[in-house]
Amino acid sequence: MVGLEYEIIRRIKKYAEDNNVPIMQDAGMDFLTTFLIKNKIRSVLEIGTAIGYSAIMMALTNPYIKITSVERDEKRYLEALRNIKELHLDDRITLIFKDALDLKLGEKFDLIFLDAAKAQNINFFHSFSRNLNSNGFIITDNLEFHGLVEKDEKEIKSRNVRALVRKIKEYIHFLEQNVEYETIFYKIGDGLSVSQLKK
Ligand code: SAH
Ligand code: MG
Repeated sequence: MVGLEYEIIRRIKKYAEDNNVPIMQDAGMDFLTTFLIKNKIRSVLEIGTAIGYSAIMMALTNPYIKITSVERDEKRYLEALRNIKELHLDDRITLIFKDALDLKLGEKFDLIFLDAAKAQNINFFHSFSRNLNSNGFIITDNLEFHGLVEKDEKEIKSRNVRALVRKIKEYIHFLEQNVEYETIFYKIGDGLSVSQLKK
């Protein structure tokens, strides 16, 4: 990463912090970029752009990698567009302003990165696995949800948060029981999983 890029990324991270935009934690981001490099990933479909931080970090791992990313929040989508233009990555990062639940794509990708509404992960997994190359990966973020997934449910005061945690547990169970995909769970960042079609 060169100096100017570094400055812009620092500004994006600051914006996220000031505006409560839940971008990936550093440890998770490092894991993901290293994974992309190690596995020679050339195309990524990201569900949940926010302001473009993770898409940008992924794009910067390699000058040939292409990212398609979807976001349903207009303000975030516009901010992401701006950030991506500023880094001149608009030729390699394609943003789609849409609810991912309504999105149908014909293309195939080496990696699908699920980082949107946590309660929808099973739906996203079903819906986008048809866009995965046969040797590709599905990576999911926030499986620990700030440590709440491991916590005793009775300790979680908010009903909404409790419902969300239950959904994340259901998703983990879905991955563990999946006969088609092999999944490895990583206690890195906010908790990540890597799923790959069984041979
Ligand atoms: N990947 C980003 C962070 C994404 S935060 C990064 O690390 O930089 C999750 C984002 O998913 C939010 O901005 C939210 O608006 C978006 N989102 C949630 N549900 C969605 C849906 N159904 N379709 C599209 N975007 C969604
Ligand atoms: Mg996340």
